[in-house]
Amino acid sequence: MIVTDLSNSFNPYPKPTKKVKKETTKIKQKSNKLAKKERDRFSILQEENGKCFVCGKQKKTDKHEAFGGSNRQKSMEWGLIYYLCRTCHNKADVDEVIRKMLHDFAKREIH
Ligand SMILES: [Zn+2]
Repeated sequence: MIVTDLSNSFNPYPKPTKKVKKETTKIKQKSNKLAKKERDRFSILQEENGKCFVCGKQKKTDKHEAFGGSNRQKSMEWGLIYYLCRTCHNKADVDEVIRKMLHDFAKREIH
């Protein structure tokens, strides 16, 4: 059998969605990269032994970057991560004293 009608397999027009698709991919890659960074977080400040850095209790801990804002990514890259229980984590977000203590300890480690 000889195929004579190629119209179904031949499309002379570039796909109009190409540009949009590319941008979407770019954003997706960026967020994937950040997600990977967050997954790969490690700590040079303490062992991951299930103990909260602030209160020392054996509890379920969350990772907390020593420095927030624009330095949050640097914190992840350098391993400036604390393991904090939920209570201390919440405190660290609002309590200036705890935040400063965590900042100072991390600064000593990188100097
Ligand atoms: Zn705690």
